[in-house]
Amino acid sequence: MKPFSIAIHGGAGTILKEDMTIELEKAYINGLETAIDKGYHVLEQGGTSVDAVRAAIVSLEDNLLFNAGRGSVFTKKGVQEMDAAIMNGANLEAGAVSGVRNVRNPIELAFEVMAHSNHVFLSGKGANDFAIKQGLKLEPDEFFFSKFRYDQWKEIRDSDSYSLDHTHQDLAELMKDKKFGTVGAVACDSFGNIAAATSTGGMTNKKYGRIGDSPIIGAGTYANNKTCGISCTGHGEPFIRAVAAHDVNALMEYKGCTLQEAMDEVVHHKLIALEGEGGMIGIDANGNTAMVFNSAGMYRAMKNSKGERKVAIYKD
Ligand code: ASP
Repeated sequence: MKPFSIAIHGGAGTILKEDMTIELEKAYINGLETAIDKGYHVLEQGGTSVDAVRAAIVSLEDNLLFNAGRGSVFTKKGVQEMDAAIMNGANLEAGAVSGVRNVRNPIELAFEVMAHSNHVFLSGKGANDFAIKQGLKLEPDEFFFSKFRYDQWKEIRDSDSYSLDHTHQDLAELMKDKKFGTVGAVACDSFGNIAAATSTGGMTNKKYGRIGDSPIIGAGTYANNKTCGISCTGHGEPFIRAVAAHDVNALMEYKGCTLQEAMDEVVHHKLIALEGEGGMIGIDANGNTAMVFNSAGMYRAMKNSKGERKVAIYKD
């Protein structure tokens, strides 16, 4: 049996201790702990990395604190349009969805695309039709409503700006106590198989069917047993242009970098050069994990079969 491990994130951005209340901090830590334990439990029982990342993400999607599934941000039109992707590093199979509405767990829809369709990426109404066909759980609009995200959106809905769920840029004061983010998970199971998954509501006030990096294989999500599993979070546009997740893979595969070296290069150099604020979590086939970000904070956690465990929000 090989060592196994899992890491998760709940978004990155201007997450500062001075803006946080004790209660809110506790709620975040609790949400991260619950999710990492759910994912780790799957690995401990001898389950696959694909099932482990699904379990962790479902837990985060169901948590109103995070910008994914329930609790997703509002679009310009005042609704939630969610994106998600999953990739299996053992066979390079992948599934992704964008702009889906009312699907309780978009990551499960991405999994259905990967496991039970001939496609990789479905969008909008078609993706919703596929969710119905596969018998996935749908919820009414009210299920996805959260007062703080509504307030966030109200502040900028009449403008042309859109914002990362947790930066100060446009929302300054309003963002206090309200920094919530995209979720992701990477895992390596006891068979040495890697998986990665990401789920998001995207950016507040997004319009024209905007899609970020999260559901794009190679940009926000990537997994390959030969190298690594990566899930990103941050300002999606630069992450797409940097092909961030796959670039970590390429640095490992072609240049022989370690996971940490490759992630440092992409997050602290390539993304910075493109003004790409955010971070990523990664895992390699030996179960090593890394959590790297160039923003003030990133909600994150890891746990492995060596008994190591970490839950953190701010810079170390
Ligand atoms: N990367 C996501 C997007 O651009 C947002 C985030 O990570 O919070 O849609």
